[in-house]
Amino acid sequence: MSDRAEKLLTIRHNVSRTAHIVLDDGICKSCGQQACLYFCPAGCFSLVDREVKFQYEGCLECGTCRVMCAHNALKWDYPQGGYGVSVRLG
Ligand code: SF4
Ligand code: SF4
Repeated sequence: MSDRAEKLLTIRHNVSRTAHIVLDDGICKSCGQQACLYFCPAGCFSLVDREVKFQYEGCLECGTCRVMCAHNALKWDYPQGGYGVSVRLG
């Protein structure tokens, strides 16, 4: 197993019912690049019937989408306290 895969196995998600990142579907519909399909390390963005869909549950909170979306289509925040990713040590 690669080092990267081993590190990912140490990550735990405590998923909130409230999405910490919300996509503006209207902006995404007119986006030609759809770069988010490639830059999210967790694969939270996917193409369904030619539309970009987002699922926050597997988010690694890296912030890449916040910086890289050229159209500012994301309302981005960290998960509420106690939720989100944590790393198991040892
Ligand atoms: S999130 Fe940004 S990059 Fe992805 S489809 Fe929407 S506007 Fe385009
Ligand atoms: S913060 Fe990182 S892991 Fe989460 S959706 Fe954005 S790019 Fe993906």
